[in-house]
Amino acid sequence: MKILVLNCGSSSLKYQLINMENEGLMAKGVAERIGIDGSFLKHESENNGKVKIEEEMKDHKDAIRIVLDALVDKEHGAIASMEEISAVGHRVVHGGEKFSGSVVINQDVINALEECSELAPLHNPPNLMGIYACQEILPGLPMVGVFDTAFHQTMPEDSYIYALPYEYYENHKIRRYGFHGTSHKYVAMKAAALLGKSVEDLKLVTCHLGNGASVAAVDGGKSVDTSMGFTPLEGLAMGTRCGDIDPAITTFLMEKEGMDYKELNNVMNKKSGVLGVSGVSSDFRDIEEAAEKGNNRAKLALDLYHKRVKKYIGAYAAEMGGLDAVVFTAGLGENSPESRAAICDGLEFLGIKVDESKNNVRGKETIFTTEDSTTQGILIPTNEELMIARETLSLV
Ligand code: AMP
Repeated sequence: MKILVLNCGSSSLKYQLINMENEGLMAKGVAERIGIDGSFLKHESENNGKVKIEEEMKDHKDAIRIVLDALVDKEHGAIASMEEISAVGHRVVHGGEKFSGSVVINQDVINALEECSELAPLHNPPNLMGIYACQEILPGLPMVGVFDTAFHQTMPEDSYIYALPYEYYENHKIRRYGFHGTSHKYVAMKAAALLGKSVEDLKLVTCHLGNGASVAAVDGGKSVDTSMGFTPLEGLAMGTRCGDIDPAITTFLMEKEGMDYKELNNVMNKKSGVLGVSGVSSDFRDIEEAAEKGNNRAKLALDLYHKRVKKYIGAYAAEMGGLDAVVFTAGLGENSPESRAAICDGLEFLGIKVDESKNNVRGKETIFTTEDSTTQGILIPTNEELMIARETLSLV
C-alpha cells in the first residue's frame, strides 16, 4: 500500500510518497510560491533523482495536480499510475478539543475543521485547501487527518486551563492545546524502543527543537503537559517567536510604541526569539557561528535559549515525579551537539551525564549519556511524515 502524505502551508505544499510494505520513502518534494509569481516544484524520487519544475500554481489544486504529474512522470516519477496511491494522509495543525486522534476525513470532519480554523487562522485554512483539492482531483480516495494537537489531548485539566476567568475557556475555548504532537509521539515511541522498554513504563521529556520549538512531558506514553499553548507562540524562545514573556509587556508596548495588536502579533511571532535577541539570524547555524566569532548578543541568544529548555526539563521532571530520559529532535536537537550539551549541563543532579564522544553525532539515533547515567539523553531524528502515513494506514 502506498500512501501520499501532504503538509499544506499557506503558499507551500510538502509531500512524501511512502511504501507501507517496508515504510520506504519513494518520493518527496515541496511546491513553493503557490498563488505567488514564480511558483515551482522541487521533486525527488528515490530511484530517478531530483528535478525542479517551474510552472504556474495559482492555488493548492494546481500544486497537487503538478505533484501527481511528477509522481507518475516517466523520467522522474516513482509510480506508474495514480491508482497505486491507496490513501492520502493530511497534516492538520489544529484539531481543537474535537480530535484526540487521527480521523478518516468526511463531511462532518471537514465541518469541524472549518470551526477550528478560528483557533489556527494561519494553519488550518491551507490544510483545508489541500483537503478540498484532493477531493476534487482524487475523488473517492480515502483521506485521513492527523492533528498536531491530538497527542496532547491527554493533558489533565490542571495542565491545560489558564488562570483566566473560566468563562473564557467555556465561551472561546481558550486553553492550552499544544503542537508538534505527531513529532513528540513519534520520538517518544522510538526512544522507548531504543531503551528496550515499553513506553508505558517511562517518564520522558521530549524536546522538539526546530525553527518552531516545544517540549512535552510524556508520562506512560501520554502527553501530560507541553510548552506550546493556545497558539504555537508560548513556551520556548524560538527562531523568531518570543515564547514565554510577561503578558503585561504586550499592553505596555502597545501604549509605549503605539502598536496595534496586529503589529504586536507580528513582532512576537516574526521578529523575536533568537533573531530578536541576537539581531543576527533566526537560523541557529548563523547564530552559533556569530557567537564563536565573539558576537555577545548571539551568545546571549543561545544562552537564554538553552536555559529556557533546561527550565522546562526541570519543571516537567518535577511535574511527573521522575525522569527516565530526555529526548532531542528536529533541526537543532538533531544537529547541534553543542546545544544538547549546553542544555544538559547542570542536569547531573537528575542523573544526566553527557558523554562527549557519544554526543558528537548528528541526525542519528543515539543514547549520548554515560553508562552510569540514571537518566538518559537520547537523540531521535523525527519523522512526522512516516507517523502520518502509519496513522493513515491504520485507519484505512
Ligand atoms: P526544523 O524546523 O526542524 O527544520 O529546524 C530548522 C532549524 O534547525 C534551523 O533554523 C536551524 O537553526 C537548525 N539547524 C539545522 N541544522 C543545524 C546544524 N547543523 N547546527 C545547528 N542548527 C541547525
